[in-house]
Amino acid sequence: MGKVYLTGAGPGDIDLLTVKALRVVREADVIIYDRLANPDILKEAKPECEFVYVGKQDGRHTLPQDQINEVIYQKAMEHEKVVRLKGGDPLVFGRGGEEAKYLRERGVKFEFIPGVTSAISVPAYAGIPVTHRGVAVSFKVVTGHETPNKQHSQVDWESMKADETIIFLMGLHNLQNIAENLIKIGRPKETPCAVVSKGTTPEQKSVTGTLETIYSKVKEAKIETPALIVVGKVVELKEDLEWIEEPK
Ligand code: SAH
Repeated sequence: MGKVYLTGAGPGDIDLLTVKALRVVREADVIIYDRLANPDILKEAKPECEFVYVGKQDGRHTLPQDQINEVIYQKAMEHEKVVRLKGGDPLVFGRGGEEAKYLRERGVKFEFIPGVTSAISVPAYAGIPVTHRGVAVSFKVVTGHETPNKQHSQVDWESMKADETIIFLMGLHNLQNIAENLIKIGRPKETPCAVVSKGTTPEQKSVTGTLETIYSKVKEAKIETPALIVVGKVVELKEDLEWIEEPK
């Protein structure tokens, strides 16, 4: 029986892979990877390393999670070193905890190798600090996958009244709902807002606006996934701090 390394691949830019992740990738007998993990990372593996793609497209699973769990487990039965490579950090909306639990229940050893999450690094590559003295003293990372008007929502919308930074992951298709709902709970409609697509990659593109304008601007710019949404005054700093995309 082998060991499974539940490993963060970082947000896209291969240089944001951690040294520890790179080490296990180079030593791996098998790598089970996601759509969001930069495929160039696989070039670092040994020639005999086996690759298994279990990616998901926009929330639609190409493989259901229980089958992914089973694939990881089976590979751990056959190989010494199994790397489960996931975009960003494996425990930030990455289901790494579920995979680890499945392995623990079956007596398989695992390690978490944290990764650079898109939630913080993608705003950084767009020139947006998630906190900034005098502007925002806290930030929150929220799933944008839940429809805000869904009954019994697990997301605490009322808590987002406070003047803090909110980063929505998996929310592009819900952008209009999210923006409208934030206005409804009391965030001013002038609240600055940015959507950053394919952050940290050469195709990075971002759109800024307000809660009122962001949806139409994003639609016009034909923004593609993966993309995240940043809400809050920190977005205004982008004008001064932009360093990747051409300054306007
Ligand atoms: N575990 C990942 C997040 C998985 S959820 C992490 O820590 O980054 C997938 C969501 O992450 C996407 O829908 C998108 O909102 C965001 N995301 C991941 N990579 C991104 C990128 N390069 N640019 C913009 N958003 C990204």
